[in-house]
Amino acid sequence: MSIKLFDLTGKTALVTGSSRGLGRAFAEGLAAAGARVILNGIDEARLEETAASMRSSGFDVLTAAFDVTDETAVISAFETFDANGIEVGILVNNAGIQFRKPMLELATSDWQRVIDTNLTSAFLVGREAAKRMAERGAGKIINVGSLTSELARATVAPYTVAKGGIKMLTKAMTAEWAEKGIQANAIGPGYMITDMNEALLANPEFDAWVKARTPARRWGRPEELAGTVIYFASAASDYVNGQIVYADGGMISVL
Ligand code: NDP
Repeated sequence: MSIKLFDLTGKTALVTGSSRGLGRAFAEGLAAAGARVILNGIDEARLEETAASMRSSGFDVLTAAFDVTDETAVISAFETFDANGIEVGILVNNAGIQFRKPMLELATSDWQRVIDTNLTSAFLVGREAAKRMAERGAGKIINVGSLTSELARATVAPYTVAKGGIKMLTKAMTAEWAEKGIQANAIGPGYMITDMNEALLANPEFDAWVKARTPARRWGRPEELAGTVIYFASAASDYVNGQIVYADGGMISVL
């Protein structure tokens, strides 16, 4: 048995939505474990800025700007990888958005946008990655869920439905792709300090609620998810399929 169970040297990881926030932390963790990483986002300037900053830390970084909800763009990105001999061995389906509005006031278009960005994108990018992984007989897919993969919260219905879907998509991927040598698993972060939660972090009542409700009594830092993603991306999890691990300071375990 290799003692380098967590070593990702020689692997290439695509992390969607990695120009900032959790995606960037996932990319930095995978790069620190030896992987070449492909950063993705829509805002090209922000993507290049993050790539430059990671390269200055000595990491091997490529970029691929595309919208994960745009099927043509996703397919074309993978065709470009193929043309350049880039084999995506690790995919982190991280890109996502939040939109807060009570359901009685929610427009169908906003419902759809949140579902497309947080759930359909993981199917779409996952399918293109898995086609290639299946040919090689190996691959790692890590989907990003949330505490809302299990629990609902007022004002975020489409997000909750999408993240519940992420948990089941991870199992659906397992049902069809585990026999092809692909391990699909998911990470469910708790309340983390990122742009997505800017308004919540700035709200003293919400901040106090998070700290009171979380056994660890604090928000999570993006870099604290690196270990979980490295585990799911590496040989250490080669017989682990269809699981979701909550990295949440214990929130989901207590009432
Ligand atoms: P941020 O808002 O900080 O970052 C979102 C990232 O996703 C950005 O890089 C953004 O790119 C990218 N993105 C958004 N839409 C698209 C798209 N259509 N195509 C490509 N890239 C896109 O979010 P977080 O880091 O907070 O969240 C990341 C993931 O983690 C999401 O799936 C979220 O649901 C999940 N999560 C977050 C939690 C938290 O507490 N923050 C808790 C649980 C789960 P650009 O810069 O170009 O806009």
